[in-house]
This record gives sequence, C-alpha cells and structure tokens, in this order.
Amino acid sequence: MDLGLNESFAPMLAEVRRMVQDEIASLDAEYFAEVDIGDRWSLTPRQSEILESLKSRAREKGLWNLWYTGAGGPGLSTVDYAYFAEEMGQAHLAPETFNCNAPDTGNMEVFHKYGSEAMKTAWLTPLMAGEIRSAYLMTEPDVASSDATNIALSCTRDGGDYVLNGEKWWATGAGDPRCAVYIVMVRTGGDDVPKHQRHSMIVVPTDAPGIEKLRAMEVYGDDEAPHGHMHIRFTDVRVPAENMLLGEGRGFEIAQGRLGPGRIHHCMRAIGMAERALRLMCERSLQREAFGKPLAQLGGNFDYIADARMQIEQARLLCLKAAWMMDQGDARAAAPWISQIKVEAPRIALEITDQAVQMFGAMGISQDTPLARQWAHLRTLRLADGPDAVHRRQVARAELRKYTNAPA
Ligand SMILES: Cc1cc2nc3c(=O)[nH]c(=O)nc-3n(C[C@H](O)[C@H](O)[C@H](O)COP(=O)(O)OP(=O)(O)OC[C@H]3O[C@@H](n4cnc5c(N)ncnc54)[C@H](O)[C@@H]3O)c2cc1C
Repeated sequence: MDLGLNESFAPMLAEVRRMVQDEIASLDAEYFAEVDIGDRWSLTPRQSEILESLKSRAREKGLWNLWYTGAGGPGLSTVDYAYFAEEMGQAHLAPETFNCNAPDTGNMEVFHKYGSEAMKTAWLTPLMAGEIRSAYLMTEPDVASSDATNIALSCTRDGGDYVLNGEKWWATGAGDPRCAVYIVMVRTGGDDVPKHQRHSMIVVPTDAPGIEKLRAMEVYGDDEAPHGHMHIRFTDVRVPAENMLLGEGRGFEIAQGRLGPGRIHHCMRAIGMAERALRLMCERSLQREAFGKPLAQLGGNFDYIADARMQIEQARLLCLKAAWMMDQGDARAAAPWISQIKVEAPRIALEITDQAVQMFGAMGISQDTPLARQWAHLRTLRLADGPDAVHRRQVARAELRKYTNAPA
C-alpha cells in the first residue's frame, strides 16, 4: 500500500502551498469584510476581483480541477489529491481558487459519471471552467434526512415533464448569485417499490418558475452570505423529462457515487485546518507570557500541543488509507473507511481548533484570527454529509459482518 505523494506532483503541491500561504490566506479577511457592503447575496466588485484573479492565476499554472481523478483530469489519484486538499483547508478561498470547492466537485462528479451529453454541455462544461456554481438538494425540514429513504419531495411525470413540489433546506451554495443549477434528490416511487428504488435525482435550473428561496439557514448566527445554505420551496416546478439522471429509481446509486469523494475531500481539508490551528496555537503560546512564562510552559499546554500533533498524524494516515481504498475502485469496500475518517477528521480538527481558541484567550473567538470561523465550520461537518452516528453505524456494521458472514 503506497500512501505517499507521486513525486512528479511535488512541484505542483509546493506551488499550491505557496499560493495558499502567501496569497490566498491574507485575502480571506478582506473578502469577508466586503460581505456587509450592499446586497449580502451578490458579490461586490472587490470580491469578484479577488476570486477571479486567484482563479485565473491557478488556471494559468495548471492548478485547476485537481480533484478530478478521472480520464482527462490532471492525473492525480485520490491519495495524491489528499495532499493538495490538506493545503486548501488552510484558507477559506483556496478550494474555489483551484475549482475544488464543495458542493461543485460532487455535482461535477455526478455529471461526469451519470450525465447525458446535453447535461454535460449545459452544466458540466461551465462548472469545470469555474463560470457557474451549483447546489445539491437532499435534506428536507420535515423528515430525518440522515436516513435518505425518508426523502419526500414529490416528483411526478406529466407528459414530457416532471413536476416537483416540496421543500429542501441547507442547500449549500444556493444563495450564491452564480449558482445556476441544482441536483435534487426526489421521491418518484410509491410504497409498492423497494425502499432503495423509490428515489431519483433530477437536474433543475435555478431560474425555473416555482422556485422560492425562503431564507438562509444560519450557522451559529452567520448566514454565510454570499454563498449560504438556503431553505427552498418548490411549487409546481416543471422540468423536461430528459433532466432525470440515469432514470427513475436510481437516486441511491448516484448518491453513493457522489457522496464518497465529497466526504473524503472535507476530511482532507479538515486535517489542513487542524494543522493551521496547531501552528497558530504554537506561535501564540511562544510569543505571549503570563505568570512570568510563555503560555506554552503553563499548565497542561505542553500536553495539548503534543496530543494535537499525535492526533493529526493518526488522522492523516487514516485519511490516506481511506483514499487508497477509493483508488482500488471498489466503492463498497471503501465505504467503511470513508465513514471512519468522516467521524475522526472533523472530531480531532474541532478539538484542536477549540484548544487553539483557548490559547488565544478572547481574541480566539473574534474575527482577528481564522479560528472562530473554522471552529463553526468544523462543528457543522459533524452533521453535514451524514451525522457522526450514521457513520459509526456503518463502521460497526462492517466490523460485525466479519463475525456473522452476512453479505456486504
Ligand atoms: C453547514 C451545513 C451544510 C449542509 N449542506 C447540505 C447540502 O448542501 N445539501 C443537503 O442536502 N444537505 C446539507 N446539509 C444537511 C445535512 O446533510 C443534514 O443535516 C444531515 O444529513 C442530517 O440530517 P438531519 O439534519 O435531518 O438530522 P436527522 O436525520 O434528524 O438526525 C438528527 C440526529 O439523530 C441522530 N441519529 C440519526 N441517525 C442515527 C443513528 N443511526 N444512530 C444514532 N443516532 C442517529 C444523530 O444524533 C443525528 O445528528 C448541511 C448541513 C449543514 C449543517
């Protein structure tokens, strides 16, 4: 099992690291400060300028769509990409700079794997070029959405169209003015259809009549404008029947193809966030003194720093192992490994970030370090793309199967 970076990508990785540390990280604060200027749900001229100039530099250097491990991509394996995504976790604007941001990468994956030629032309090409953005709509307010068999948004056939009715919420990126397309998980089958064949995924342009953005859901009081996590109502929204992905009843099949890579990318970035928190914690604890000593030498701070280093190393190895499992091409065998890291990476990164916040005192929870925003984001990762408990269930079931000889 080779968990190392393919050495031919080392210069690219060094350049990504340099851009993240020297150019992108310092622009995050300026980008956020612009949110309060004018309409929160449009990009200010300065925000657009920041993003577009970073994107064009990344594109010129060939640091573009690095996530795409398929034919025609830059040629990275999932293991290779883990090293890049970790760097991108260290600045808010970094994933979009390299066209590696969620939920677009997952949606591009769906169009690549399951989209018709017409869908590829209409949506995949502009997404791969970074010209538009997209959202993925699965979660609903009225059902426990960690069990996707509960998804209820109705989608019925009417002549050459499908008609959608119902509500979705927590649609990340749907507030972005550049968001042009949704991939929506819907219910098409009745109770007589087997449970995992009742659902489908359908492509809906964001300007289809009958779509209402009801509100932005807040993450600990922050609406995360201008991208947001939107609560959306569909009232008699009509789309042509050709917008159905793969065919009715194939929703679960597509969800598996989409969520595996998306989940592990979040984990890779979370490890980068843990590294950033540890670096900030170390720098602060050496610079600042209390009771006649640097903070590093007080109380249990040595242990916190040591534990953080050990946790990061363990999580990184687990993440690389899960990435390697994905590269072997058996999604079913990789799933419990992805679930393991989906529990562990956000957990350790959140713990280390919390410790770093503590080391900074009051400044740690303020806008003067990236830690507070990072803490809130990591906390959401313990829910988004499946809550911890659901992933633990997957891990335990895989473990127990070894003793019961039940089929995978
Ligand atoms: C910031 C953020 C961004 C998001 N982005 C998106 C997005 O872009 N698109 C989208 O569709 N959704 C998105 N989500 C929604 C997210 O995926 C759901 O919140 C998640 O799947 C859980 O669904 P739920 O909120 O309905 O919780 P529920 O299903 O109601 O679960 C609540 C709790 O029940 C418990 N529970 C559930 N199952 C088990 C079990 N098997 N064993 C033990 N306990 C269990 C757990 O404690 C769980 O946290 C986002 C969420 C957040 C916070």
